Amino acid sequence: MKATTPAAGTTGRPTEQDWAAAVDAVRSGLRPGARVLLVCHVNPDGDALGSMLGFAQGLRRLGVTSLQCTFPGPLTVPEPLHMPAMDLLIPESEADPAPDLLVTFDAASESRLGALVDRLETATVSLVLDHHASNTGFGKVSLVDPFAAATSVVAAELLRRLDVPLDRDMAECLYIALVTDTGSFKFDLTTPEVHELAARLVATGIDVGAISRRIFDSRPFGAVRLFGEVMGRAQLEPASAGGRGLVYAVATLADLAKHDQPPYVLEALIDSVRCVAEADVALLLKQVAPTEWAVSMRSKGGADVSLIAVAMGGGGHRLAAGFTGHGNAEEIIDAVRDRLAAQS
Ligand code: 5GP
Ligand code: MN
Repeated sequence: MKATTPAAGTTGRPTEQDWAAAVDAVRSGLRPGARVLLVCHVNPDGDALGSMLGFAQGLRRLGVTSLQCTFPGPLTVPEPLHMPAMDLLIPESEADPAPDLLVTFDAASESRLGALVDRLETATVSLVLDHHASNTGFGKVSLVDPFAAATSVVAAELLRRLDVPLDRDMAECLYIALVTDTGSFKFDLTTPEVHELAARLVATGIDVGAISRRIFDSRPFGAVRLFGEVMGRAQLEPASAGGRGLVYAVATLADLAKHDQPPYVLEALIDSVRCVAEADVALLLKQVAPTEWAVSMRSKGGADVSLIAVAMGGGGHRLAAGFTGHGNAEEIIDAVRDRLAAQS
């Protein structure tokens, strides 16, 4: 299901009824012998993995014994995102075909669940936890809070309502999710509630310094050279985006090969592109196949990049969104430039 505009119902915060329905859904997975499957989005980021694995540990505390965690695609987790409870991860091919309870994490649309999307039909009960305004409303029971800084904020609140006490390993997963999606507590949705949750998580004794160094402040020398090369080709167009400015950079498979780097190192590169003061909108194209690109977009507030991402078949937030682009880099940049001009 594709939506051209954010679906109605994801514009407001979850109601008390929504929370009660979610608590009931989880309780259905607490019956003895119940089989529970947790799924996060393809190519998982810190929030997808961290909210899923943090919640999984909460379910274990509640007595769930048959518990699987997975995501579509190869079962590889980039080294900076290694975290507790990864032993719960199983390849998608081993995922229960018809679990008693399914919970999805950080997936804004069914397409983000890949082949696992059929579990929405086969599971006895399914629950969607998310925070994307672009969520297409695909869940039967869903908690989508577009004002939550991370899906882990929603997951942590649900655990609190289930009376699950936080422990250190659970907190590390939820913290990684929170710190990645808030850009280390810098982005717009970093509310008092976010800091209150962070305080509860840090109070369990997690090593915030080590976590930050591993995730944000450590990369191979080859990746640093790669970033320099790609940034050296970045283009600034002050007149684009309605005169608010567009900056873009393109990272090719040849760049990765030249510096002998895996694709995941490029996840951090958008942060260098979006620093450019003269541009409201930053665009990064990461080549994944000869005519396929993972596209990241960021806005400083002038443009709503989630509308562009949704129109291009992807999703995200007003200030951070992405999609998979097909064709050559110039065609994709042209399409985004045109849509930005139409928006302003
Ligand atoms: P990033 O640029 O860091 O990969 O992603 C920024 C935001 O856009 C995230 O919230 C992410 O979920 C969303 N996003 C990125 N790529 C895609 C995509 O291909 N499809 C959808 N639906 N959302 C995406
Ligand atoms: Mn997220």
